[in-house]
Amino acid sequence: MLAGIQQIDEVEWEVPVGYVPGMRVPGRFFLSDDLAETLEPDAVHQLANVACLPGIERYSLAMPDIHSGYGFPIGGVAAFDAESGVISPGGVGYDINCGVRLIATPLRADDITQPRALIEELFRTVPTGVGAESSLRLSHHDLAAMMTEGVRWAVEAGYGVENDISHCEESGRLDAADTAPVSKKAFQRGMPQAGTLGSGNHFLEIQEVDAVFDPETAEAFGLSPGQICFMVHCGSRGLGHQVCTDHLRVLESAHKRYGISIPDRQLACAPLSSPEGEAYFGAMAAAANYAWVNRQVITHQVRQVLQRMFGIAYEEMPLVYDVAHNVAKMEEHSSERGRRRFCVHRKGATRAFGPGLPEVPAAYRSVGQPVIIPGSMGSHSYVLHGTATAMERTFGSTCHGAGRVMSRTKAKKATPGSEVRKHLLEQGIVVRATSDAAIAEEAPEAYKESDKVVDVVRRAGLSLPVVRLRPLGVIKG
Ligand code: 5GP
Ligand code: MN
Ligand code: MN
Repeated sequence: MLAGIQQIDEVEWEVPVGYVPGMRVPGRFFLSDDLAETLEPDAVHQLANVACLPGIERYSLAMPDIHSGYGFPIGGVAAFDAESGVISPGGVGYDINCGVRLIATPLRADDITQPRALIEELFRTVPTGVGAESSLRLSHHDLAAMMTEGVRWAVEAGYGVENDISHCEESGRLDAADTAPVSKKAFQRGMPQAGTLGSGNHFLEIQEVDAVFDPETAEAFGLSPGQICFMVHCGSRGLGHQVCTDHLRVLESAHKRYGISIPDRQLACAPLSSPEGEAYFGAMAAAANYAWVNRQVITHQVRQVLQRMFGIAYEEMPLVYDVAHNVAKMEEHSSERGRRRFCVHRKGATRAFGPGLPEVPAAYRSVGQPVIIPGSMGSHSYVLHGTATAMERTFGSTCHGAGRVMSRTKAKKATPGSEVRKHLLEQGIVVRATSDAAIAEEAPEAYKESDKVVDVVRRAGLSLPVVRLRPLGVIKG
């Protein structure tokens, strides 16, 4: 372990105040010994820097998928007091409300006799890749409504069913959304990209439930051994990116007006109660709602393909759940000063609310919310459930994936995409992407081992495994 880091527990580590000058609270991260070599000193430095921001509550936190990001580490969680705290785009990321969802089906693994044909049909139907164009014809008014209403807009436009709404975190809508601080350029970028998968790390995957750890909870989530599911990973495309870019520019100078000194330019921020902070919050929430619609429209496209190819009724393909993993939200949590409101930033981290909370949909309330953790195109993904421990220790948060260990550039040099593709096919995984270069950047070797990362959050009690998923086919942007 790095010098100056103290072990708190089997898988929990403390970055003490003083690790970098100006820390207001300690840092805490979760990692096992066998993942210790994946820890980047830069990411720990970023975690410590976040602890310098005004209004931060208790700890600057990071999950075992920690790696360095823009300002905040990816895998980072930080809660800022609603009255005295700040909001920072670096704590959300460029892809606002990037997230994952899982769609269940009545299909079993042996129903997928022609995985290639299914993947190709999905690839034709779901617009994929950098320049992919939306099949939606939207007016400016539609786009604004989408950003204000979130998933409900999509369901009312015919892209889903009522039940999809309650099976999204926040019911697929942040009510802080305000389109006024969303620039014309952001609108322009968002218009042709609504309902598209995007590129890079974003994916649509056919998966089989290949292990069940908690049969009772699996049943509550509608999951059983051998079942086929579809996982969607995407976010707010160019719209979210533009919102982040626009507001970073403003916040880079705004913090000085409020007497906030930041240890890193990338931690540009403003008080939650300032006009600049409110403007970013409103625009960020609007982009988050757009991302939820995006995943909803893709879900509709997947359901249509399955309807056509397998004759399955639309209602037989329920949305298990949808989680955001790049977002800042107002939430109530316990603190030494009692129950208080915080702006919780999760940047490459997933909400993991435990049992009994009103935020968890009724169908899952007795067990805790579903937590969806993707692995890589060649490794396991998981469904876990949130816990009371997460509520106590991490503001109800857990990891969001395996996390990168290799940069895109390095991964591209390591193994050619054609070889990665061949190797995956030998394991029975069909990959379809816009280019072999895209496959190389996303090789399973570029990520930590998902089994090990999930084991850390299990041991820490931040979320508990329900089922494991094995990839059969992957579409990469
Ligand atoms: P991020 O949003 O940080 O780019 O990615 C989230 C996580 O998705 C990554 O940490 C990685 O573990 C996982 N991931 C990336 N590509 C794939 C894929 O093709 N399939 C699956 N199942 N997971 C992936
Ligand atoms: Mn993303
Ligand atoms: Mn993501």
